[in-house]
Amino acid sequence: MIFKNYKHTFLQALSSLYDEKEIESFFYLTLEKLHQKKRIDLALQPDLMMDEVQLTQWETVLAELKIFKPIQYILGDTEFYGLPFLVNENVLIPRPETEELVELILVESRKSKVESLKILDIGTGSGCIPVSLKKNLPSVEVFAIDVSTNALEVAQKNAEINGVEVNFIQTDILKVNDLKNLPTSNSKLPASFDIIVSNPPYVRNLEKAEINPNVLEFEPHLALFVEDNDALLFYRKITELAKNHLSENGKLYFEINQYLGKETVVLIESYGFKNVLLIKDIYGNDRMISASYS
Ligand code: GLN
Repeated sequence: MIFKNYKHTFLQALSSLYDEKEIESFFYLTLEKLHQKKRIDLALQPDLMMDEVQLTQWETVLAELKIFKPIQYILGDTEFYGLPFLVNENVLIPRPETEELVELILVESRKSKVESLKILDIGTGSGCIPVSLKKNLPSVEVFAIDVSTNALEVAQKNAEINGVEVNFIQTDILKVNDLKNLPTSNSKLPASFDIIVSNPPYVRNLEKAEINPNVLEFEPHLALFVEDNDALLFYRKITELAKNHLSENGKLYFEINQYLGKETVVLIESYGFKNVLLIKDIYGNDRMISASYS
């Protein structure tokens, strides 16, 4: 089968399910993953052929796209902040909003006078936050917590493929009262951090109606959803811990539910934080908060 012809079949097969631009991007992502070839290679070799084995691989991708499995889970990886990340159904696919959170932390940290910042990420999932921070600020010391052992396995691999060291800790943050007693792989967690960051579960059940089926059916609910009547439980717990475990000039950063910006600010202020800033993402939604004591 000639690739060019198969591309036509692929586009046709998905045309009633996705828009054309999206299908094209699925096609080229798959081409790159399965054959290490780019769009330009196909343009330069119009007669390029795929064999039977390769055709079977493409048919598997196609079948999964038809049931709305996210392309990142089908191919097993994605890109975040310009870096490669492995993903599977145990971790949320890193979002562009979270890249904005990383960018905010990087910009502010570069201004910091502290030599070796200690950073803690709570609810790390794929590890996209600590890995991208460490990659861009090599002198920082990074710790990351998650409740899910399966997620931590993915996060550990992501640290390895990006060549950075992150100390991962498996624990249920909701049950932790004192961070400093938590064991890491080679030592204890420090008693204080310069930065505590979290993108915890924040989508309420009542918002399920606006969530795409590909998210709802394939992404881990553990990482996404909270009860309608206690949507800020992670923010409460993490802010309470941050109050006792942030260094003097330390900063707390959150990704937040766009509909709960004001409530989240009020909650954080109620723990004595001073500069609580609500920050919008590129879509204009309230999406991040930074807070400090001074
Ligand atoms: N931003 C994600 C979404 O909309 C949710 C991330 C989270 O719950 N922390 O699917």
